[in-house]
Amino acid sequence: MPVALRTQVGIVGAGPAGLLLSHLLALAGIESVVVENRSRAYCEARQRAGLLEAGTVELLRSAGVGKRMDAEGIEHDGIYLQFLGERHHLDFRALTGGRWVTIYAQTEIVKDLIAARLAAGGAIEFSCSDVAVSDVTSDRPVLSYADSSGETHVVSCDVIAGCDGFHGICRPLIPGLSVSERTYPYAWLGILADAAPSTDELIYSRHADGFALYSMRSHDVSRLYLQVAPDESVEAWPDERIWAELQKRFAVEGWSVSEGPITDKSVTAMRSFVAAPMQHGRLFLAGDAAHIVPPTGAKGLNLAAFDVTVLTDALAAWYSGGDATLLAGYSQACLRRVWRAQHFSWWMTSMLHRFSDASDFDLRRQIAELDMVVSSPSAAKLLADNYVGLPLT
Ligand SMILES: Cc1cc2nc3c(=O)[nH]c(=O)nc-3n(C[C@H](O)[C@H](O)[C@H](O)COP(=O)(O)OP(=O)(O)OC[C@H]3O[C@@H](n4cnc5c(N)ncnc54)[C@H](O)[C@@H]3O)c2cc1C
Repeated sequence: MPVALRTQVGIVGAGPAGLLLSHLLALAGIESVVVENRSRAYCEARQRAGLLEAGTVELLRSAGVGKRMDAEGIEHDGIYLQFLGERHHLDFRALTGGRWVTIYAQTEIVKDLIAARLAAGGAIEFSCSDVAVSDVTSDRPVLSYADSSGETHVVSCDVIAGCDGFHGICRPLIPGLSVSERTYPYAWLGILADAAPSTDELIYSRHADGFALYSMRSHDVSRLYLQVAPDESVEAWPDERIWAELQKRFAVEGWSVSEGPITDKSVTAMRSFVAAPMQHGRLFLAGDAAHIVPPTGAKGLNLAAFDVTVLTDALAAWYSGGDATLLAGYSQACLRRVWRAQHFSWWMTSMLHRFSDASDFDLRRQIAELDMVVSSPSAAKLLADNYVGLPLT
């Protein structure tokens, strides 16, 4: 016999979107159950984002999960743009009237949110199988799963939130979905290294052999990326080759990338993707389940945080007085910001990467665009405003 449960919001996925939604709902007095098919250890170790917009930092802080982020996060006042062997600084604080970004790894946010939910008695089921969602057009949608011991649970919900990422099960449940998509003809080889970064802020380097990004997770751990072919295999990149390529793509006189043991190596495809609408009946998508941006603009996690803020406000209004207006407008409210971030991420990506079929005209236009960003205050401000993030409202 399956175990029958009841909750207000059934959440599929314990990534940043699902965990933050569960936490924000609890603060608003709304119950939820989070169902995740991976283990807790896997979720806490999955290497992904590391850069938070000022609005996301404020959100985590005001939600009471910013203590470790405030102690261990690193504030960055800008970025470096490098091309034609020269490095230029963009000062975000000066360009945006005092705004900045924070380096704090997604792994740490996930750990903080899991700890906060479990300390508050929140329900998160890890290592589930056979996760399924049904009856989303009824007023009692159902979330079912087998727990880690194989026992089946059937959760009767008011609403289901699909926070199950790009490969999840929820998005396909929306009939007539419109999909806007672009795949890029390259990927990122990302490494994590136990090496103190030799830069104080991120370096975005456009090089004739391909783009490279120097970022970090802490004062002791560097996170670096190289543009590679979309079908590149990690095995083709022994550590020595990676370091040599990084040294070449970041080369400036009298400076070098600091090297150390590589602890993680992976290849990530580059994709822009938006599915609309983000809701159907009582099912609402949030985060990567509905949209993907190439990581060049560092927007994915920040967008996920925005979606769940909008969804929490809409659910709070609905539960407190029965007003469904905000819920009905959820998709529209999210998609405006999503498309702003899509444009910015596409712009950063196309300005900085090497296209294999690029003509001489394309290459010179790309350099002219970068030159405009570092020499025109209004172009620099456009980049800075989008990078630090538009206001959350
Ligand atoms: C290399 C890289 C660098 C990035 N850098 C940045 C950055 O600097 N800043 C930024 O903002 N963003 C960045 N991003 C994007 C960011 O990591 C994602 O946007 C973010 O993880 C989205 O969170 P999410 O909760 O929506 O989805 P996910 O993190 O994908 O979480 C979805 C969860 O659902 C679970 N799940 C899936 N299917 C099921 C199922 N059937 N049943 C139950 N559970 C399921 C998954 O296991 C997962 O735990 C980066 C991404 C990559 C790949």
